[in-house]
Amino acid sequence: MPDKPQWRELFSEVVTSGLCTGCAACVIACPHDVLDYDDQHGRYRPWHLDIDGGREDCTHGVKGCTSCTRACPRFRSWEPEIDVHRVGRERTEDEVYGVGDVLLARARDPEVAGVGQDGGVVSAILLYALEHKLIDAALVSALEGDGLTWRATPAVVRTRAEVLATAGSRYTYSANLLAYRAAADSGAERIALVGMGCMASAPGVMQARKAGKVARRLSLTIGLLCSKTFDDAIFEDLFERRYAIARSSIAKMNIKGVFQIWTTDGAYHEVPLKEAHEFTREGCTQCPDFAAEHADISAGGIGAFGDWTLLIVRTDLGRTLVQALLEAERIETRPGDDDPGAVALLHKLARVSRRRWPDGADPKPGRIPVRSS
Ligand SMILES: Cc1cc2nc3c(=O)[nH]c(=O)nc-3n(C[C@H](O)[C@H](O)[C@H](O)COP(=O)(O)OP(=O)(O)OC[C@H]3O[C@@H](n4cnc5c(N)ncnc54)[C@H](O)[C@@H]3O)c2cc1C
Ligand code: SF4
Ligand code: SF4
Repeated sequence: MPDKPQWRELFSEVVTSGLCTGCAACVIACPHDVLDYDDQHGRYRPWHLDIDGGREDCTHGVKGCTSCTRACPRFRSWEPEIDVHRVGRERTEDEVYGVGDVLLARARDPEVAGVGQDGGVVSAILLYALEHKLIDAALVSALEGDGLTWRATPAVVRTRAEVLATAGSRYTYSANLLAYRAAADSGAERIALVGMGCMASAPGVMQARKAGKVARRLSLTIGLLCSKTFDDAIFEDLFERRYAIARSSIAKMNIKGVFQIWTTDGAYHEVPLKEAHEFTREGCTQCPDFAAEHADISAGGIGAFGDWTLLIVRTDLGRTLVQALLEAERIETRPGDDDPGAVALLHKLARVSRRRWPDGADPKPGRIPVRSS
């Protein structure tokens, strides 16, 4: 970045232009603590404290601080910059879901597989990395309070019990990066991040643009495949009002072509996805990244094998970890070719998401001609 873009540019080019996903990377990278985060009423946006330059500008930025734009995984040519930093080159036009190898995996420990959303592999990786002191802590998503509200909230995990308690998927937004400060304040130097593509590109962009200590500490990134997240209103206005499913009665949810909902009374419900679209979170509407393209390992639940996780292993660190878990008999794997339908769907969903990148924004991510199916 030849000029010194600061909050003023981030505010106009990302925060208020519709590109902002609410990932919170700018908030945690700000060394002057003048950015805060609004997660009320479905907003999920950073905002600048009035004490220092006001809403649209920042006195530290005027003096040359560029930390927020260095940390933002939607600012200007973020995609090729991170590609080059992570895998040494820009992706080719065929690599529509990013660079990486697809395989299927599941946790061998029945307790881990049992609490996992699909194959429990994300939790198995965190447990292995914590036990072998490859990381000190991980940033994940927990449920608020006793869990009955189904409100997802960022959390730090360090123990087996904490990893197991936070496994599974919630389909409302959780800006897991916001748990960074709690992890760092407790002394964690090597921190793993679990998050959808919007968050999973943050460590890479921070490292590519040398955003400082935060960039160094975020040393492992596990991405979650993601088409969208939903506003919290989906619980009252769709599940409860139209289907009489109270949020406090929900035991587990998944999305497999439909919203699958299991309730605590043992019943199973299906809600058509087309009814859920109106609850799409605003920050997702222009997101081009289905496959968490800049993670070390991306994980998803598409495919014919419901209790397996589809992995895209992208970096040397990702390959080393998967190999280590295999050798330690923590996971079992099978080739991606065992489920050609899943790989075809991965291509299709990645293409669909890439079409969302607006023509007027930096041309790089939309440049790949994915408009023909
Ligand atoms: C919002 C969302 C949308 C998704 N959409 C798709 C999709 O369209 N297609 C697809 O194939 N897969 C999707 N996934 C991924 C899928 O649901 C599983 O997370 C993935 O297959 C890994 O399963 P696992 O059993 O290995 O993970 P687990 O071992 O269950 O671990 C899951 C991890 O995800 C974290 N997590 C849960 N909810 C959230 C959240 N809201 N925000 C951030 N972190 C969270 C948990 O804290 C845990 O660390 C989505 C996940 C989420 C959270
Ligand atoms: S996309 Fe993330 S880093 Fe960029 S402005 Fe929005 S919250 Fe900040
Ligand atoms: S679609 Fe998923 S990855 Fe993209 S902004 Fe929304 S939550 Fe993030």
